[in-house]
Amino acid sequence: MRQVAIYGKGGIGKSTTTQNLTAGLAEMGKQIMVVGCDPKADSTRLLLGGLAQKSVLDTLREEGEEVDLDSILKPGYRNIRCVESGGPEPGVGCAGRGIITAINMLESLGAYTDDLDYVFYDVLGDVVCGGFAMPMREGKAQEIYIVASGEMMALYAANNIAKGVLKYANSSGIRLGGIICNSRNVDKEIDLLKAFAEELGSQLIYFVPRDNMVQRAEIHKQTVIEFDPEAGQAQEYRQLAKAIDENKMFVIPKPMSQERLEAILMEHGLMDI
Ligand code: ADP
Ligand code: MG
Repeated sequence: MRQVAIYGKGGIGKSTTTQNLTAGLAEMGKQIMVVGCDPKADSTRLLLGGLAQKSVLDTLREEGEEVDLDSILKPGYRNIRCVESGGPEPGVGCAGRGIITAINMLESLGAYTDDLDYVFYDVLGDVVCGGFAMPMREGKAQEIYIVASGEMMALYAANNIAKGVLKYANSSGIRLGGIICNSRNVDKEIDLLKAFAEELGSQLIYFVPRDNMVQRAEIHKQTVIEFDPEAGQAQEYRQLAKAIDENKMFVIPKPMSQERLEAILMEHGLMDI
């Protein structure tokens, strides 16, 4: 069982990418569980055909400690098992705690069955909070992919996440599997992302183009792979799935200084215009 965490700044496309990628892996016959670790609890909407999922934290609040697995784990597209950890009531408590509670609950209810090929954690990018680092800190996830784009804040967040991976690499064995570029159509984006990934000692594992097909599928509460299997974008997500399935490059990243990050942006990014 490979346990994979997808990190990246909010709105970068973690949930969209994770669901399309797992749909691609499911087409290949893989058994998968997706655990949404974002208080927004929208990590599995496209796999379930809507926000059909009650989060673990809401279930705990409403039903008490006697939770059964069926009430928090729902089968979605091609039987992908979908869980949302949920979050605290807004303004109260630590959102990261929801992740810890949810994963502990899944373990005690026997959700990590031997037939699973993959468990994916879709995690909000703010590793500043210890709770969000939990899937890597506790060794739940062994490999991390960071979703980024050519925009400076996305790369800034990605570098911070790499710092988190480095911090826990020795104690938990966590490794960086690569950077996924979810394109924002920034000029020379591939070059920039390649340079950034190489500076980290890692790789640009895939470049996902920006395509309105994603929004069309999203309105229908589906992944692109389900909504229009013949679409070019569906093929892109299948290629991403294949790249991750065949990945052999797992490294302890070498995060860079802010100065170095800015220099790379100057060299490859928009700043030279
Ligand atoms: P995150 O989970 O990182 O917060 P989402 O996956 O919810 O981000 O993505 C935010 C929005 O970006 C989505 O509503 C989706 O419409 C859009 N989006 C993501 N990836 C793409 C893409 N490759 N092409 C076009 N739109 C995209
Ligand atoms: Mg999300």
